[in-house]
Amino acid sequence: MNLSPDGQQLLSFLQQGNKLTAMVAPSFPVDFKKNGLIGGLKKLGFDKVCDHSVAIAEVNKLYEELFEKEKGGIVIAANCPTSVNLIKTRFPDLVKYLPNIPAPIGVNGRLCKKLWPENLNIFIGPCIAKKNEAKSFPEVTLALTYKELKDIFAEKNINTDDFLNSDFAFDGPGQKGVEIFPASGGMKATLDIQHLGCRKIIVGDEIKNLIAMFSKLQTNQETGCLFYDILACPGGCIGGPGVVSAEVINARKQKLLDYTTEEGKKPLCSQVDTNGQS
Ligand code: SF4
Repeated sequence: MNLSPDGQQLLSFLQQGNKLTAMVAPSFPVDFKKNGLIGGLKKLGFDKVCDHSVAIAEVNKLYEELFEKEKGGIVIAANCPTSVNLIKTRFPDLVKYLPNIPAPIGVNGRLCKKLWPENLNIFIGPCIAKKNEAKSFPEVTLALTYKELKDIFAEKNINTDDFLNSDFAFDGPGQKGVEIFPASGGMKATLDIQHLGCRKIIVGDEIKNLIAMFSKLQTNQETGCLFYDILACPGGCIGGPGVVSAEVINARKQKLLDYTTEEGKKPLCSQVDTNGQS
């Protein structure tokens, strides 16, 4: 099988004896079962496998603090590099609404470096744009997609089904209740509403819908105390280009909710938010 350059780079890190930490994005249940994913990564040679939950909770806390501080302002979530680039290139007047808060990949990179300083951090997720974004965080060495990881597993004859009956846990600390974060509206669902005050939240996904929303904002057709919870892919990160699943978005979102239930946690929301609804 022809691996991507980043897939080959990962194997070369392992062959050179580097210790690696996998930072797994929260959308992983769309393509993997937890035990299969962790078992497969450990068999491949990863030293640690952690999820993004603590980083997501930390990022949400930073936004909540910002909402408290800027009670009347407009804030646009800066978690999605494609959305941020869209604003920078097509709506430069709106750049001022992007907060100086790192995306979860950066927060998690720092956390993992603190926990396992000698390890190289490898992000694994649904996103191609994060390959570039990762370069702005020195704690993140490489970003791979789920598709690339499946190719690497195939190349190394690793069958994740072999680990389904094992009982693996993510390394490092975890945070319950943020599993829905990668779906459209997931940030809104996981923020602590007591910090929102009268702030109206506008949820959006898919580039064409974001363009329509930002055009309204830029021409003052939308005003007030607003927070834009936006992701550029259809349905959010669960519709990212690095996802293997060909299922419809609602089926992918159901997998996130099933994972939440399997882990004994209560799903925070069950509906896919539609564009422009608060
Ligand atoms: S919505 Fe798409 S582009 Fe944005 S972070 Fe998620 S996978 Fe990446």
